[in-house]
Amino acid sequence: MIRLDIGSATLVGQVRSANEDAVLVGEGLGVVADGMGGHRAGEVASADTIEALRSVEGSRTLEDLVRGVHLANRNISERADADPALRGMGTTVCVVGLVRRDGLDEVAVLNVGDSRVYLLADGVMRQLTEDHSLVESLVREGRISSEEAQSHPQKNVLTRALGVEPLVVVDAWLLRPCDGDRLLLCSDGLTNELDDARIAEILAEGQPPDVTARRLAAEADAAGGRDNTSTVVVDVVDSGAGPAPVGDRFRRITTPAVDLSDIEHGPRTETVMAVLAEPGDPGAAGQAGDAAPGDAADGQPGDGDPADGATVPSPDLPATPVIEGDSEIAALATGGVPAGDVEQVAVAHAEADAAVARAARWRTAAFLLAILVVVALAVGAIAFTARRGWYVGANSNGHVALFKGTPVLWLDPAEVRQADQRVADLSPADQATVRRGSTFADEAEAQNRIANLTTTSTTSSTTTTTSTTTTTAPVPTPAPTPANPGLLPTPTVGPTAPGQ
Ligand code: MG
Repeated sequence: MIRLDIGSATLVGQVRSANEDAVLVGEGLGVVADGMGGHRAGEVASADTIEALRSVEGSRTLEDLVRGVHLANRNISERADADPALRGMGTTVCVVGLVRRDGLDEVAVLNVGDSRVYLLADGVMRQLTEDHSLVESLVREGRISSEEAQSHPQKNVLTRALGVEPLVVVDAWLLRPCDGDRLLLCSDGLTNELDDARIAEILAEGQPPDVTARRLAAEADAAGGRDNTSTVVVDVVDSGAGPAPVGDRFRRITTPAVDLSDIEHGPRTETVMAVLAEPGDPGAAGQAGDAAPGDAADGQPGDGDPADGATVPSPDLPATPVIEGDSEIAALATGGVPAGDVEQVAVAHAEADAAVARAARWRTAAFLLAILVVVALAVGAIAFTARRGWYVGANSNGHVALFKGTPVLWLDPAEVRQADQRVADLSPADQATVRRGSTFADEAEAQNRIANLTTTSTTSSTTTTTSTTTTTAPVPTPAPTPANPGLLPTPTVGPTAPGQ
């Protein structure tokens, strides 16, 4: 009867003061979690993940393993919400578990984050999982090379992790196991210190899983140990199946973007778990003939013989399609999406671009708002100035008139009253003065100015009806006459000003 022979190791390394990695070795189950977060919150996140997956240990269904990852995600999120000291914590997780599906024994591989699962089969090592990291997204988009990714300053930026969002999409694959299959789960502490060729060499030495796990971790430690290093080595034993091409027995499974751990409200899992790509489909398990990184292990670098089943993706190969988020549900509702039609979504990159775009929009909006405020203040100042004071000038009838306000730019003062004097009858000096216009602080001054205008036909001063103005006209009647050129209300203007 098939079983998994599992060994593990985890080391704090040469630099870190604490080990935020955690591993789980159970019956038919191996897990690595690489926690992150200040003040040892990462330890809490990875430990919570191990606890959640321990709760599904012994289960033989893929759905339960995915549910365990969802439960971990929920537990971490809720704990971080409840405790400010733990806010922002998260963790990667990768899982290898023995499951039964359609009456067959299969090895389930799950991943969230940038811890990795490798498979050594038939002398070739391949990376089964895809990193959820910014640099991996950039590599997939062709924006940087795999070599540049190794030294990229944002190498540690994850695009997916547990504890970050209320829901997490879990990458999942199924491998029909064969005797001789050896899987490795590891945190990035291993892959940052040892290249794939060296890892493959150690895996291929054939030591027992626990010895191999310790050797790998110890070598990473000796190479610098700049991060915590965790390794879980899983050997497939007594499968009853001989070696077979990996491409024919490895396939991706969609998982739902809903919380399977929410038993009460969760969907029936069989309606949302489905095979995304069958073996042999383009993109189901990479392309035949790849020069897998582990080729060095069998002493035939780059042999890439399709017949040996070296058909599983490595970081240098074209992307294996991924469906993320709600599109999974939509895809399943329509009977599945052809694997080749789906592009890998560079989540973090898209989010970063969106954030930059949002910031640019806010800056533009703020700039426009500032301009509007300045313009409004200027218009207000002009309008305020235009309404102040009194003005004596010529109106459109050719008469002297009293206006309220002051001409400013395009704003004309409002005519209040038309005087009897025609501008043309004024002395040349007063004609020039009236046509130029005069501004006064108060109405009485303006009225005085009108009263003192002289005409060429008479040398007497004009008269106003303002009680404060001395008149020289002998007739006290208020009605204006030619001999008594007082001010007449202008019919088209509003209420008569005080003093009339
Ligand atoms: Mg790490």
